[in-house]
Amino acid sequence: MSVHDDTERLLSEAQKFFRQHRALYGDVLLVDPVTAEPVKKSSMKPAEQPVPVEGDLFGDTPSSAAARIGAGAGKSALLPYPNEPWTAAATLASLNEQICTCQKCSLGSTRKSFVFGVGNPNAEVVVVGEAPGADEDEQGEPFVGRAGQLLNKILEAVHFRREDVYICNILKCRPPNNREPQVNEVEQCEPYLWKQFEIIKPKMILCAGRVAGQALLKTSASLTQLRGRVHDYRGIRLMVTYHPAALLRNPNWKRPCWEDVQMFRKFYDELKVEENKTTS
Ligand code: URA
Repeated sequence: MSVHDDTERLLSEAQKFFRQHRALYGDVLLVDPVTAEPVKKSSMKPAEQPVPVEGDLFGDTPSSAAARIGAGAGKSALLPYPNEPWTAAATLASLNEQICTCQKCSLGSTRKSFVFGVGNPNAEVVVVGEAPGADEDEQGEPFVGRAGQLLNKILEAVHFRREDVYICNILKCRPPNNREPQVNEVEQCEPYLWKQFEIIKPKMILCAGRVAGQALLKTSASLTQLRGRVHDYRGIRLMVTYHPAALLRNPNWKRPCWEDVQMFRKFYDELKVEENKTTS
């Protein structure tokens, strides 16, 4: 193996480390101020540490985990719709028809498909990911690749079927090389999501991944700060958990993700109980 190969491997390992670090802690590099060494996991609070997984948490035998109840919800500002005709759409099909040729940002010229969303138009739960990947761009449907298959398992583990929920992304078009959505792209695309929510009227939103959570909540908070609590998004309860693609890269995050989705289910069930009380 050449020095060049070694350097490449080292760089790739370093990139992987920083990507995982960023997914967990955001844009904060945890360095001990005295020793200038990276902070060791053992000095973090127990709840912040990813717990190793025994078996497949999203397989046949989901294990129980202690619920971690987060603090209260933060309000996100209710920004107004642009003054455009699609804002009057009454159905998802009509909305899709009116926006599917969108060219508001540069992704309009590189996409193969406009990936609008899929699922139950009356869903009580909406899952929001980041943006279509290569498989989704090919097929025109969100979360159909490996990450999508894991998402289905995650949902099934807490008794939600893919066809009962609604699944979409912050962006409707694939960013080249799967790079993160840019601010202007989110600004242009997010009103379409508002309209989808307005039509669907979901009770709860589950954000798959830090990027989706940050984009909707307009924050640079880390995933560790965002998960484990209920936020408010335009009057809808919203929770954030790991992106399934992150779980494929690091199975140690399956356990905390499992805790998140159990908590999500618990809040959803509580909401239904409250609803039944008020309607009976
Ligand atoms: N990742 C996402 O965030 N969305 C998809 O639709 C697929 C992969």
